[in-house]
Amino acid sequence: MLEHCNCGQRYDLDFRLVDYKKHVSIDNVPVLICPKCEHEQILPQLKGDMGALLRDLPLDGEPYGLDYTDFNELAHIVYTIFTCSEVDTKDALEVEVKENCAARINTLLDLYHCANDVGDRSWMEEIEARLAQLTEQTSVNGQKARFSPA
Ligand SMILES: [Zn+2]
Repeated sequence: MLEHCNCGQRYDLDFRLVDYKKHVSIDNVPVLICPKCEHEQILPQLKGDMGALLRDLPLDGEPYGLDYTDFNELAHIVYTIFTCSEVDTKDALEVEVKENCAARINTLLDLYHCANDVGDRSWMEEIEARLAQLTEQTSVNGQKARFSPA
């Protein structure tokens, strides 16, 4: 997750308030920041989900704000660990994020089976979308790795 920048320095994690079309303020967007050359980018694992969210945001009416961690499972886990965890190294942070993602995936899979048992199609779709947020990879050879419920 905390890869190296093109300049060779390892990224730091931080969170940003992103203004979208001067209409929507999206808080707590996880970003990678290079401490050396100050290059900054949204966490690559979130780019697809962020794009989909922006496409769906209503842009009429009054400007408004939202918290990205309410909309994305991975952002929620990363933010919780970043703000609450005792870990003090980037490696320990990555390990904790991975462990929490694995635990959350297991919980969601349990829920998925419950939803399947009661035949609640829309609940299943919601869980699938959340699982995809946790398992979506940056593309490998142009192919998006997708979660497929067994
Ligand atoms: Zn750099």
